[in-house]
Amino acid sequence: MSYTSTFLINNVMPIDIKIKERAAVERVKLLGKEQDENINIDLEKTVPVTSLPHPGKRIIKEYLKIVDHNEINTRIANEKISIFTDGSKLNNHTGAACIVTKNQQLIDQKKWKLADHCSVFQAELLAIKMSLLQFQPESNVTVQIFSDSRSSLEAIRDCNNCHPLVIDINNRIGELKEIGTNVYLYWIKAHTNYVWNEMADQLAKAATMESFAVEEYNKMPVSTFKHEYRQKANAEWTARNTEASTGRWTVRLIPSLATAERVQSKLGMSKLLTQVLSGHGATRHYLCRFKIIEDGTCLCSSNKQQTTEHLMLECPIWENSRHCITIKHGISQTDLANWHIILGKNNDLAQGIGSAS
Ligand SMILES: [Zn+2]
Repeated sequence: MSYTSTFLINNVMPIDIKIKERAAVERVKLLGKEQDENINIDLEKTVPVTSLPHPGKRIIKEYLKIVDHNEINTRIANEKISIFTDGSKLNNHTGAACIVTKNQQLIDQKKWKLADHCSVFQAELLAIKMSLLQFQPESNVTVQIFSDSRSSLEAIRDCNNCHPLVIDINNRIGELKEIGTNVYLYWIKAHTNYVWNEMADQLAKAATMESFAVEEYNKMPVSTFKHEYRQKANAEWTARNTEASTGRWTVRLIPSLATAERVQSKLGMSKLLTQVLSGHGATRHYLCRFKIIEDGTCLCSSNKQQTTEHLMLECPIWENSRHCITIKHGISQTDLANWHIILGKNNDLAQGIGSAS
């Protein structure tokens, strides 16, 4: 079987492309530079363990879950400073914001822009960090932060988390505690039309659109550039498949990497399925090629070579079965050679063809 077919059927990236991808990722992690263009990437790095506070001094900042609007109203109807934070990623731009209330009255609002490559997670954390930094509460005032980002609150409560924004938040909470200001964290559900949370959401969205605003945070998350390099590697693999002189039948059946992934996840792999996808099955053409039989012509009336393609798409012997399948699933006969379409249909068709093969 050709390299093209082998890698595609098994949905395994060719080793040379994989090595290049990993090398590029590791280079950026180590040096903060792109491999070819020597472009500097300001990568978000975790805080080294040696720079963390002593374990005995690390705070475990728990959060409370609130689902009821009345409960939020009760909690904010007092002299405490209540801050609603939110982060947003919209049209590939990232923003963060907070709404500050006291006695259920709006007393301030702020928004911040992040670099476009930043994630929502970073935006949510930045919103909490900046809220705590920019408001200088008097001593002995209680500050309540309401966030709809559970992942951020989970990161904050994890005293071993080394994310730089999480460390900044925990340090700030510690500083405030020293002047007698206690910070309480609450998780509220997103999109429940709670007025202050909706305002924070709208403000964060507005921040994403401020194209000329100074970026308050621009570190690129590791996940972003890993994703970018994976996209590049996939593009190289796809181009190689398209241009390959071997494995044409496999590339025709599996035209994209997404299809390769679905073939694996929906059908699994079997000896017969591999034969169909590679075209290297016990067809007469194949047996003749290896001189096991003398004539590779199909037993039908077409006088054509009995290849997998012929059996699947043309052979009159299978015309009835093809007709039934195409009618039942609303596809054309040529669609039978495009597994992107077959696997996009219901599971019955994919499983049926998988087991029939
Ligand atoms: Zn035939």
